[in-house]
Amino acid sequence: MNYRPNKNRYNEMTYNRCGDSGLLLPAFSLGLWHNFGEMDNFHTARTIVRNAFDAGITHFDLANNYGPPPGSAESTFGKILKSDLAQYRDEIIVSTKAGWKMWDGPYGDFGSKKYLVSSLDQSLKRMGLDYVDIYYHHRPDPSTPLEETMGALDLIVRQGKALYVGISSYNAEETKAAIKMLKEMGTPCLIHQPRYSMFDRWIEDGLLDVLGEEGVGSIVFSPLEQGLLTNKYLHGIPESSRAASGRGNGALEVDQITPEKLEIVARLNKVANDRGQTLAQMALSWVKRDPRVTSVLLGVSKPEQLEDSLQALQKPGFDDGELSAIENILAG
Ligand code: NDP
Repeated sequence: MNYRPNKNRYNEMTYNRCGDSGLLLPAFSLGLWHNFGEMDNFHTARTIVRNAFDAGITHFDLANNYGPPPGSAESTFGKILKSDLAQYRDEIIVSTKAGWKMWDGPYGDFGSKKYLVSSLDQSLKRMGLDYVDIYYHHRPDPSTPLEETMGALDLIVRQGKALYVGISSYNAEETKAAIKMLKEMGTPCLIHQPRYSMFDRWIEDGLLDVLGEEGVGSIVFSPLEQGLLTNKYLHGIPESSRAASGRGNGALEVDQITPEKLEIVARLNKVANDRGQTLAQMALSWVKRDPRVTSVLLGVSKPEQLEDSLQALQKPGFDDGELSAIENILAG
């Protein structure tokens, strides 16, 4: 069936400027880490991507290793791009990354120029693209000189294979050094992609300040702590959940869902319900409350979750009472 995007798709979404750059990103972007691999249902994956685009989500976030198996999320996305979105390429921001183990031998991991350049060539092939909009180094590499990794990002932009570059999971100090180096090379760092949720607030301890001062944007990942910050685990482990799937590769595992965490989740759920929101919606509203957060990455396994999460955009921010109630709950 031919796909015709929603004509009103740009009416509901908010677009935020990414740091001091010229690029606007949607307040919510779609991440394809899980749920888009070879083992996942293609029809569901395609429906999620279509519905996201229909809702004004212009940014799709990938990495070389998303799947499983690694690479298969890019292949799935490539198929959807070709069948449904090819004519809208100029309305879409595609990002990918390299930095985690992708192939055997010494050149398929970490941060060498050899790895970053060849991995991007593979990603472009899998997605059927000539260029990506944003290319990230996926994690810091303590053994490769930062000059080499940043030099590879600069080279890739000069080759026309990426329009912008970013870094992911670099700490505040590493970020400062990377931003400075890229600036000197003439390829500014567009964006940082860190993990951020009510349960993981490390970016409040210096990183956001660096990004704000340097005019670099941020897009935060795992805002729902992989599903823990929703009401889904309050009454057991649903069969279709990420925790039950045993996907490995950093995915939420059953033993991370402790009674202590669930007690906090239950109390947060109550605050959310008092606000007239689901907990998922409140957790998303909470990470996007800081203006230095340009965009929030949604990971969804079902179209209904996307619909639920998008409603967070309709709700005003928090009042002081709500924020301090949340702080008290998180403090335990
Ligand atoms: P989340 O923390 O939002 O977890 C997503 C999971 O939460 C879904 O798979 C689903 O779980 C559940 N969920 C989502 N929305 C709802 C809802 N409305 N109601 C109930 N449950 C819901 O994000 P991810 O961990 O998936 O990360 C998002 C994206 O961030 C990734 O796709 C990727 O693009 C990026 N990322 C980047 C990393 C990096 O190193 N740079 C690392 C990790 C992620 P279920 O599957 O159980 O239904």
